[in-house]
Amino acid sequence: MIHNRFFRTIFVKFLGKSQISWKLITPLLKVVRTMSRDCVFCKIVKGEISSRKVYEDEDILAFYDINPQAPVHILVIPKKHIENILGISEGDKDLVFKLIKTCNNIAHQVGIAEKGFRLVVNTNPEGGQTVYHLHFHIIGGRQMRWPPG
Ligand code: AMP
Repeated sequence: MIHNRFFRTIFVKFLGKSQISWKLITPLLKVVRTMSRDCVFCKIVKGEISSRKVYEDEDILAFYDINPQAPVHILVIPKKHIENILGISEGDKDLVFKLIKTCNNIAHQVGIAEKGFRLVVNTNPEGGQTVYHLHFHIIGGRQMRWPPG
């Protein structure tokens, strides 16, 4: 946030009266906003914010959601900062498989695999994404409804 404000101030001060369109500046601000040092999940990975961990290895961290939407609500994230599912590349093939396999393993571990659960990846504003670090929600322990809200 601080540095979002900082960059905005710089832009307004030095570029505000110029011909440079805000349409060019807005994507740049978006990049600044999503830089990993501002990312709450990167802070959890680094241990700067505490979390209730469920699983951890060199690539992946899973922890309980701070605002659970069901009796079981766990987030599974890559340790490396990827903004969302749109940000994956060919080089992330193994990581993406590992993330999904980890969700699978955790569902068994916490006892919701057989009854069923929901795996959710909210993406961008209309998808309901609020934290711009790729994460899988494992939601279970109650009957899910469809369509989702
Ligand atoms: P989304 O809205 O799909 O981006 O999901 C972000 C999720 O992260 C929400 O369910 C939040 O409750 C959760 N969340 C945000 N901050 C934390 C935190 N510090 N620890 C655990 N979960 C968090």
